[in-house]
Amino acid sequence: MGNGKVWLVGAGPGDVGLLTIKGMKVIEEADVVVYDRLVGMGILSLIPDKARCIDVGKTSGNHMMSQEGINKLLLEEAKNGNRVVRLKGGDPFLFGRGGEEIELLVKEGIPYEIVPGITSAISVPAYNGIPVTHRDFTSSVHIITGHKKKDEEYDIDFSALVKTKGTLVFLMGLSELGSICKGLSDAGMDKNMPVAVLERGTTAKQRKVISDLSTIEETVRLNNISTPAIIVVGKVCSLSKGFSWYEKLPLAGCRIAVTRPKELISGLSEKLRIKGAEVIELPAIRIEPIKENLALKQSISNLASYQWIVFTSPSGVNIFFEEMKSMKADIRSLAGLKIAVIGEGTLKMIEGRGLYADLVPSRYDAENLGKELGAICFEGDRMLIPRADIGNILLVEEIKKRKNVVIDDIPTYRTVYEGSRIINEKEEFQNRNIDYALFTSASTVRGFVSVTEGLDYGLVNAVCIGAQTKKEADGHGMKTQMAEKATLDSLVRLVEELHEKQRQGNEK
Ligand code: SAH
Repeated sequence: MGNGKVWLVGAGPGDVGLLTIKGMKVIEEADVVVYDRLVGMGILSLIPDKARCIDVGKTSGNHMMSQEGINKLLLEEAKNGNRVVRLKGGDPFLFGRGGEEIELLVKEGIPYEIVPGITSAISVPAYNGIPVTHRDFTSSVHIITGHKKKDEEYDIDFSALVKTKGTLVFLMGLSELGSICKGLSDAGMDKNMPVAVLERGTTAKQRKVISDLSTIEETVRLNNISTPAIIVVGKVCSLSKGFSWYEKLPLAGCRIAVTRPKELISGLSEKLRIKGAEVIELPAIRIEPIKENLALKQSISNLASYQWIVFTSPSGVNIFFEEMKSMKADIRSLAGLKIAVIGEGTLKMIEGRGLYADLVPSRYDAENLGKELGAICFEGDRMLIPRADIGNILLVEEIKKRKNVVIDDIPTYRTVYEGSRIINEKEEFQNRNIDYALFTSASTVRGFVSVTEGLDYGLVNAVCIGAQTKKEADGHGMKTQMAEKATLDSLVRLVEELHEKQRQGNEK
């Protein structure tokens, strides 16, 4: 009690990269996150597990919680001593009811902070190549709510707006587009004034239509533009065609689910985001180190008795070295051992610890590792393999086929399947909201399947890192593709190729 506080945080317009650094920090420290519909899926997927999440989603007409209810909720949670993050789309103080939400907090003396966000009013035009001001065209920009109470007249002074000659940005105006255009045109605006309607800006589903004051309503109808969308009126809209950039990124328009375990996910997500993809992080598995692992401890105490140590996953490396650390085992106790790793990701992990591999197989899988290791090791060698409890048996079999060796195959972690608490994976795939699911191991496929039971897997475009992974995905009836090499870069390249083909197909 007593330490509760509320942060009103703007999540930006959708693109994860447009959440502020301060916003992210506050979310990382939150006990409770209260969010609504406009907050992008990508951002929701970043909320740490320890935070309780409350969806007060407010799509117009489908109110889940009244404004009063939300105000009370924030108060209650803070009074109970929680660090409460109220996460809102765009900026909390621009048509975000931020003012209403702090009134009660002020009255009750609850401390709070406001973390402004990037508003859709400026960023969505920017992602569509529209600068809301430009010295050649306009010297002001006006942001207006297009919301109108049913059966009431607009409380907007259209003739004052027209007189400013400024760019006009209407939020929440799509359903009243006709009245807005009529209001402006009755007030004397040129019928040829360019107008843009921008749907779901800064996300993979971003779309725009541009025409003029007299035709935009028809254009919007023909293209089935839907909410959320903003309306931009002004000469700057004519710049959009020449200035557009987002669509040109190699993975623009692509929404990708990444299923790696949480501690490994960000590297892959970043590679995809840089290329313009919208990434939803849906870790399908969690790595759980085996506690009080006596077999592992014993091996670490006797490292000098081995000739080889073999790593078959990044998690395997991390857990092994964490155990060494907890035992205060010196890195030099590995001095006499040769090191074999299964592939590039695992190699990077050991290199990060100042070690280099003596063997990386030419093809990155357990079977090949076994074959190549079996070929170069000596009779009677002792090998330590600290790895998952359900490690691929082919590794050991292939080595033993070739040499008579002693292998300590020690389980160091198990894989736990889990789904997102916030995002309904099954629904998103069923509704075709996600273009590709990336799988970096057979266990991520199994994890994904365990949390999407009943999904029609024919709807899942599974992009798989290697043969084992593909086999697992094929077994569930997914549409599968396999990377040329078992590396993250090769996986990303494959997604690019698939997306490019898809785009060309759409253009035809
Ligand atoms: N506080 C928010 C606005 C909330 S009002 C902000 O600063 O952006 C909700 C309206 O914002 C929607 O009706 C729509 O007009 C606009 N909007 C929000 N996100 C959008 C997006 N990604 N693309 C297009 N319009 C968006």
